[in-house]
Amino acid sequence: MKIKVGFGFDIHRLEKGRTLYLGGVEIPHPAGLVGRSDGDALIHALVDALLGAAGEGDIGQMFPVDDSRYFGIRSTRLLEDVMQRLIKKGVRIINLDSVIVAEAPRMAPYINKMKAALCPILGVAEDDLGIKAKTHEKMGDIGRGRAIACWAVVLVQIKKSGKG
Ligand code: MG
Repeated sequence: MKIKVGFGFDIHRLEKGRTLYLGGVEIPHPAGLVGRSDGDALIHALVDALLGAAGEGDIGQMFPVDDSRYFGIRSTRLLEDVMQRLIKKGVRIINLDSVIVAEAPRMAPYINKMKAALCPILGVAEDDLGIKAKTHEKMGDIGRGRAIACWAVVLVQIKKSGKG
């Protein structure tokens, strides 16, 4: 058995009039994240951390940006596909941790909802998924409410398959 770490980052622009999805949850806000999928930067950071840990490339390789199957898709669906691939490879998540950097809205009321949305897909207990949120102290594009960025790390164990 092997223990491996993965790291992920993502940032998306905010645009007025779009629905804001983050951590698999719809959050009331005048602006939403721009992306070919639903723009859920937290899930995208988690996906890149998972794929990195598993040695499976990155989100852009698994879901090419010009593939129309993924236009407007909920990122929870992408995460489900990633988990299927990882489970086939004998990857089991030990724990994940993440940070959302957003000036607004306040994320605290939604953290538990995000865990409820993501933990069943990830196959982990709520204690094993950290989701923390902070502002960017009004600095730069994130601080002016023009973008939201997310970071994620994951620790996994990989069972050696077959003759191992
Ligand atoms: Mg993204």
